[in-house]
Amino acid sequence: MESMYKYIFGPVLSRRFGLSLGIDLSPEKKSCNFDCLYCELEKAKPTDKIEKEPNPDDIVEEVKDYLSKNKNPDVITVTANGEPTLYSKLGELIDKLNQVKGTSKTLILSNASTINDVKVRQALKKFDIVKLSLDAADQKTFEKVDRPLKGIKIEDIINGMISFRKEYQGTLVLEVLVVKHVNDKKEVIEKIVEAAKKINPDRIDISTIDRPPAYRVFPVDNQTLYEIASMFEGLNVNVATRKEGGDVKKVHLDKDDIIRTFKNRAFTFKDIETLFDQETKEEINHLLSEGKLKTIKVANLEFIKSI
Ligand code: SF4
Repeated sequence: MESMYKYIFGPVLSRRFGLSLGIDLSPEKKSCNFDCLYCELEKAKPTDKIEKEPNPDDIVEEVKDYLSKNKNPDVITVTANGEPTLYSKLGELIDKLNQVKGTSKTLILSNASTINDVKVRQALKKFDIVKLSLDAADQKTFEKVDRPLKGIKIEDIINGMISFRKEYQGTLVLEVLVVKHVNDKKEVIEKIVEAAKKINPDRIDISTIDRPPAYRVFPVDNQTLYEIASMFEGLNVNVATRKEGGDVKKVHLDKDDIIRTFKNRAFTFKDIETLFDQETKEEINHLLSEGKLKTIKVANLEFIKSI
């Protein structure tokens, strides 16, 4: 059946943000200033414009219509067949969405390339959750993975993220997508960790290729994902494993080790399930019921931490 809507799609259940109703700002054509190796869309020459920009009122009318007939999703996600911050009316759109969103939160998925543009920043600040990508912190690897438009410097993006964090009151999520043999080397990840610590997001999602990519590149296995995640000590790290990503070695921790480990890092329930043996999981539940571990919610995902 053809959808009655032009700009909204879903809702889809996202493991990272809950039930998500999507808004596509560029439904006709991919419009992105990157051409990432791992992109789920077709490869395309990078551009800094969205052709035939939609009218914000038409989008908001669709959202209103959807919400009048359905239960509120956890998030209303602004995305594009490409990069949503290229949309010149983002500020007007978010103001209008915030008026109709009800109990849903507004979320935007951006590659962060425009983070130093004052107008974009003003608009981003009005979202409840902002998710920015950071696949490399050095220019050489950045150009290899994300294939940006000429002139885009990763150093500027990182500095922009650091200052955006200081002025943004909402939930900032950073996503690192790891591509085998491209940005999975220890030195590359160490630089990302260093930048991530300076940015200080509320949460960091580590993932790999999960759907057919634009170019011939490959995912890393689940064990590697967890090893990389463990380098981001001190941040709330969420690992998005792949179904066919292979088994992860189960770890055993005794009570004191659990408390110490959970002080330095928060784990999601899913990561606990994947990482620890049965005995450790039972001890974690026990510590939770005793109040020695606590749960915190960041952008609709629950983490467990030491008190
Ligand atoms: S930034 Fe996103 S939409 Fe653009 S090329 Fe990369 S993955 Fe695709």
